[in-house]
Amino acid sequence: MILIDGKKIALELREELKEEVSKLKLKYNKVPGLTVILIGEDPPSQIYVRNKEKSANEVGLKSEVIRYPDSVEEKTVLDKIDELNKDESVSGILVQLPLPKHIDKQKVIETILPSKDVDGFHPMNVGNLSSGYESSVPCTPLGCYLLIKKIEPNLNGKKAVVVGRSNLNGKPMTQLLLKENCTVTITHSKTKDLKGECLKGDIIVAAVGIPELVKGDWVKKDAIVIDVGINKTDKGIVGDIAFDEVSKIAKALTPVPGGVGPMTIACLLKNTIECFKRSQK
Ligand code: NAP
Repeated sequence: MILIDGKKIALELREELKEEVSKLKLKYNKVPGLTVILIGEDPPSQIYVRNKEKSANEVGLKSEVIRYPDSVEEKTVLDKIDELNKDESVSGILVQLPLPKHIDKQKVIETILPSKDVDGFHPMNVGNLSSGYESSVPCTPLGCYLLIKKIEPNLNGKKAVVVGRSNLNGKPMTQLLLKENCTVTITHSKTKDLKGECLKGDIIVAAVGIPELVKGDWVKKDAIVIDVGINKTDKGIVGDIAFDEVSKIAKALTPVPGGVGPMTIACLLKNTIECFKRSQK
């Protein structure tokens, strides 16, 4: 079984991006810029944003974090986004989720210019992805896609099963696999025979949030299995895949932690660079 080492693959990707940023600097005499807006004191969000800033600096991007207290008015945030939209030194804007209840998430997402939407959440990017056009792609599914392609570069005609249909993970994952000519089944909490559906997959991507939901006898021999889930349990952090059982059946499997997680930030940096390059065309 191939243990898909997301940490190593993400590191390689970050090295490639670092080189690309140096070349862009030589060509344009400037570097891509990422601005993150962080609202409130949510501890996981603080950690995520710190990691994003650190990684952005490491590859040579110009990075900035704008912090607001929980009590900030929605208008202040929207006005700031407008200002960043107009700022040529800002290639990508990310507003860290979740937001306080009084701030309308959709309004925030739709205020970010689609061309600076490094999270790929703007309806324009969602539409472009589903139409097969150039777009920013949400970072976690993009990371999963890159991991799958490392194991199997040609996905033509493969059967893929995506477990979970969130806008963040399941739906964009489905679009990426469709683009690669997979036959995709997308499943969710109302799916009748989840085990039966999973058993058909040459590729399984699980993004659910239920510890070890996908068992060994749900997986076809030699399937590629990608575990997006991050679940805190008594035995530590586990994914949505029953790792020990599935590792005996699968051809390749991502661990949790150390699989998909590290790819997410690397893909955020990749998206920022792509936004910059498109803005220079
Ligand atoms: P979400 O928005 O809560 O969506 C979960 C999806 O799972 C929903 O579509 C839901 O179906 C489906 N589901 C729930 N119970 C199910 C069941 N018993 N059988 C089949 N499907 C079921 O979650 P998310 O934001 O996509 O996140 C999923 C997991 O990924 C979480 O553990 C999260 O922490 C993790 N995550 C990891 C990363 C990373 O970088 N590695 C990034 C983001 C998220 P319905 O639509 O029918 O409700």
